[in-house]
Amino acid sequence: MEAARLMEVVEGPVLPKSVTEESVLAVHHWTDELFTLRVTRPASFRFRSGEFAMLGLMVEGRPLLRAYSMASPSWDDGLDFFSIKVPDGPLTSRLQHVAVGDRLLLGRKPTGTLVLDALTPGRRLFLLGTGTGMAPFASLIRDPETYERYDEVVLTHTCRNVADLGYGASMVDALGDDPLVGEIAPSKLTYYASATREDFIHRGRITDLIDSGRIFEDVGVEPLALESDRVMLCGSQDMLDDLSTLLEGHGFTEGNHSEPGHYVIEKAFVEK
Ligand SMILES: Cc1cc2nc3c(=O)[nH]c(=O)nc-3n(C[C@H](O)[C@H](O)[C@H](O)COP(=O)(O)OP(=O)(O)OC[C@H]3O[C@@H](n4cnc5c(N)ncnc54)[C@H](O)[C@@H]3O)c2cc1C
Repeated sequence: MEAARLMEVVEGPVLPKSVTEESVLAVHHWTDELFTLRVTRPASFRFRSGEFAMLGLMVEGRPLLRAYSMASPSWDDGLDFFSIKVPDGPLTSRLQHVAVGDRLLLGRKPTGTLVLDALTPGRRLFLLGTGTGMAPFASLIRDPETYERYDEVVLTHTCRNVADLGYGASMVDALGDDPLVGEIAPSKLTYYASATREDFIHRGRITDLIDSGRIFEDVGVEPLALESDRVMLCGSQDMLDDLSTLLEGHGFTEGNHSEPGHYVIEKAFVEK
């Protein structure tokens, strides 16, 4: 009996080779439904700003992992994640309770299509995100390469409620103090936030705001043009479908790693 218990303690749960164990450095709850985590970054973990990796917890001796976009840029020492809290979600019903010092699992292989190399050269970059689809763009707006490649960057974030925009707004506000892009980002980045279910300075779905031309009037920039503009989309399947249709209608073609194009997409989550 004693020997069996000892074995259990010594062996512990088996960590798969595809993950590393990281420590939680900080947690911030933005709303009842959204929070951010900062975790340690292993030296071997290399990624391109905009990519995602698997993140999770050991649950009953087994790894429970979900795809998560890195919300921090590729040069940062730590890793930031921006997360939803799904009340009965297998992972986030637990993940939302982690505290500083807790251990998390991180997949060793980052991947994703929201990377600068998947786009053909252009003058303006549009980053269009809804909900937690802000996460990969929080990474890209802090990467100096974004501003080296584009003269202008237009970041849009659309959420149901105004409070859900808080994380994105704070990322944009802090850009001026950023050690690497603090000089350049504020003059090149235009930020446009809209809420769909509450009164706000800008209201409505991003597809409608683009389709009607409202967003371009509001921020005083030229409408989307194939020659000058490149686009990254991150949101729900409906948002991706609607905006892909709109862009294809203007002649934009979808890109990927092997064949760069005028726009690239990533699901912010998978509807089950
Ligand atoms: C490429 C990719 C990148 C992702 N990046 C992020 C990220 O940066 N941050 C993040 O919070 N999630 C992200 N997700 C979603 C994430 O993988 C999980 O679905 C989420 O953490 C919930 O996990 P869960 O086990 O609690 O619930 P799940 O069983 O995974 O999801 C349950 C249901 O909750 C809803 N849902 C799940 N995630 C979201 C979301 N993000 N926003 C709105 N509704 C959602 C969906 O209806 C889903 O069917 C990403 C998904 C993909 C495919």
